[in-house]
Order: sequence, then C-alpha cells, then structure tokens
Amino acid sequence: MGHGGSDVPMIRISYNDVHKAIQSTAKRIKDEFAPTLFIAIGGGGFIPARILRTFCKVDSDGVKRNIPIQAVGLVLYESMGGIAESAGTEVVRTQWLDFSTLGKDLTHGGLLGRRILIVDEVDDTRTTLTYLIKELQSDIDKQLEAVSDADEREKLRESTKLGVFVVHNKLKQKAGEIPSSVKYFSAVDTPDVWLAYPWECDGDIEEHDAMRSENTKL
Ligand code: 5GP
Repeated sequence: MGHGGSDVPMIRISYNDVHKAIQSTAKRIKDEFAPTLFIAIGGGGFIPARILRTFCKVDSDGVKRNIPIQAVGLVLYESMGGIAESAGTEVVRTQWLDFSTLGKDLTHGGLLGRRILIVDEVDDTRTTLTYLIKELQSDIDKQLEAVSDADEREKLRESTKLGVFVVHNKLKQKAGEIPSSVKYFSAVDTPDVWLAYPWECDGDIEEHDAMRSENTKL
C-alpha cells in the first residue's frame, strides 16, 4: 500500500500535528475508557501509543504510573489478481503479544480484567482493526474458558474491555465493522486522502514540515 503516482491528494503531517491531535483526545480517552493496557499496531501505531501514554498515566497510591504498551505486527496484503470488485485483502501477523510479561503478575492469562486500547495511526479500510479485534476477542475467550469458577469468569468477562484509538480516521466506505461493544476514538476525521507521516520521511524532515503549507485544507 502506498501513495504511488495516484491522484489522491497527499497531506503531510508533522510530529507536532500528531502530538497535538493526541493531546486533544487524551482526556476523553482517559475519562471514557481509562485504558490499563495499550496494544500498538506496528509500525504506525508505535509513536502514537508512546505519545498517548504521556497523557494517560494512572494514579496508584499517589504515584503516577505508566500504562504498559504491547506491540503487535500486522501486515495488510492486497491481492492484485482476481476480479477487481472482490480484490482480496489478507492480514498477516508478523508479531504477537508477549504473554510471558503480560500475564506475569496475573492469575488469568494477561488480558482478562484489563481495559485494552488498540492504537494505530490511521483507520483506512478498517480491515486491520477488524482483524485485530477478532483475534484479541478470540484470545480473551480462550483465557475466559480457562477460568473454572463461573462467577469469577463472568466478572472477568464484564471487566475486560476493548477499545480503539486512531490518530486519523478516513471518512469513507469501510471494509470491516467495529463491534458496538468496542469503544472507538479518533483524534481527527479526514477525507480519503493520503497521509504522509513524519516517521516515514526518508528525505529532509524540515522540508517535509515546510511543505505542509501546501496541504489541502482538511
Ligand atoms: P486499513 O486499510 O486496514 O484500515 O489500513 C491498513 C494500513 O495501511 C494502516 O495501518 C497504515 O499503515 C496503512 N495506511 C492506510 N492509509 C494510509 C495513509 O493515508 N498513509 C499512510 N502512511 N499509511 C496508510
């Protein structure tokens, strides 16, 4: 996936744009979801998750604690062959959660009882997010099955929450749907443009930032 030579307008984004967008949404995320675990989708979700963590520290006995960040690697492949309308997309896992650290101090796997916020830079077709939600839900269900006490199991089912935060949400027809039980936050809604993030710039970052004056107004 890339901008290539297409006619889709390109919007250059600076680090400060990302930082300010996240800062402006963080209070709502803290108030309405209060995450206790971030799952960053690599590579685009890494820097946003780290920025968000700055604004979402949790108070524990008067001490401000950082929320842990786990990383997953997902790659979206578009099948070029076949009939155009049914162009297949496939998500492949390149990295998954580290349950050896995630579940270390917990009796139940590591996901149960947590308010888990998935973080990515952009929600485009929604394929990646839909895939990850499904996979995490399946891991949560497996961990629930392993809880023998029925009351405890139901309590854990109730208290385990999934949410999503993206810096940019493209307003377009989506290929996947986010279940209503999953809280969704986006910092900025954009038209269907190509977003050029600062961490992808392999040339002159000052020039990248300066060229923002030529951005189409969002
Ligand atoms: P999806 O279509 O599954 O929502 O998005 C898949 C991935 O494509 C995103 O996580 C992101 O890495 C990439 N992507 C989609 N749209 C853009 C864009 O406008 N700019 C950049 N840099 N990456 C994008």
